[in-house]
Amino acid sequence: MDKLKPCPFCGSSEVELFEMDEEDNPYRAWVVRCHKCDVQTAMFVGSIEQKKRCATNAWNRRVKGE
Ligand SMILES: [Zn+2]
Repeated sequence: MDKLKPCPFCGSSEVELFEMDEEDNPYRAWVVRCHKCDVQTAMFVGSIEQKKRCATNAWNRRVKGE
Protein backbone atom coordinates (compact mmCIF):
# COMPACT_ATOMS: atom_id res chain seq x y z
CA MET A 1 0.00 0.00 0.00
CA ASP A 2 1.15 3.52 -0.72
CA LYS A 3 2.44 5.60 2.15
CA LEU A 4 0.25 8.57 3.05
CA LYS A 5 1.56 11.95 2.04
CA PRO A 6 1.50 15.00 4.31
CA CYS A 7 -1.70 17.02 4.48
CA PRO A 8 -2.16 19.21 1.36
CA PHE A 9 -3.75 21.95 3.44
CA CYS A 10 -1.57 22.33 6.52
CA GLY A 11 1.46 20.21 5.66
CA SER A 12 1.05 18.06 8.75
CA SER A 13 2.20 14.47 8.68
CA GLU A 14 -0.35 13.62 11.36
CA VAL A 15 -2.56 11.91 8.81
CA GLU A 16 -4.18 8.60 9.45
CA LEU A 17 -6.04 5.93 7.53
CA PHE A 18 -8.75 4.64 9.78
CA GLU A 19 -12.06 2.85 9.91
CA MET A 20 -15.22 4.86 10.51
CA ASP A 21 -17.39 3.54 13.30
CA GLU A 22 -20.89 4.80 12.70
CA GLU A 23 -23.90 3.23 14.31
CA ASP A 24 -26.26 4.08 11.46
CA ASN A 25 -23.89 2.84 8.79
CA PRO A 26 -24.03 -0.91 8.11
CA TYR A 27 -20.81 -0.71 6.13
CA ARG A 28 -17.42 -0.14 7.61
CA ALA A 29 -16.00 2.73 5.62
CA TRP A 30 -12.38 3.80 5.57
CA VAL A 31 -11.20 7.38 5.35
CA VAL A 32 -7.94 9.30 5.57
CA ARG A 33 -8.00 12.25 7.93
CA CYS A 34 -5.63 15.00 8.99
CA HIS A 35 -5.64 15.40 12.76
CA LYS A 36 -4.36 18.96 12.55
CA CYS A 37 -7.04 20.56 10.38
CA ASP A 38 -9.65 17.79 10.35
CA VAL A 39 -9.89 17.50 6.60
CA GLN A 40 -10.68 14.03 5.33
CA THR A 41 -11.35 12.06 2.18
CA ALA A 42 -14.71 10.65 1.22
CA MET A 43 -15.63 7.34 2.78
CA PHE A 44 -15.09 4.17 0.85
CA VAL A 45 -16.88 0.88 1.05
CA GLY A 46 -16.08 -2.50 -0.43
CA SER A 47 -13.54 -5.06 0.68
CA ILE A 48 -11.15 -3.95 3.42
CA GLU A 49 -8.20 -3.81 1.06
CA GLN A 50 -10.22 -1.96 -1.59
CA LYS A 51 -11.37 0.61 0.93
CA LYS A 52 -7.91 1.21 2.31
CA ARG A 53 -6.42 1.54 -1.15
CA CYS A 54 -9.17 3.86 -2.40
CA ALA A 55 -8.89 6.14 0.63
CA THR A 56 -5.10 6.24 0.37
CA ASN A 57 -5.21 6.97 -3.35
CA ALA A 58 -7.84 9.69 -2.91
CA TRP A 59 -5.74 11.36 -0.27
CA ASN A 60 -2.55 11.18 -2.28
CA ARG A 61 -4.31 12.47 -5.40
CA ARG A 62 -5.54 15.46 -3.44
CA VAL A 63 -1.99 16.17 -2.31
CA LYS A 64 -0.85 16.26 -5.93
CA GLY A 65 -3.61 18.77 -6.67
CA GLU A 66 -5.32 16.83 -9.40
ZN1 LIG B 1 -4.12 19.25 7.65
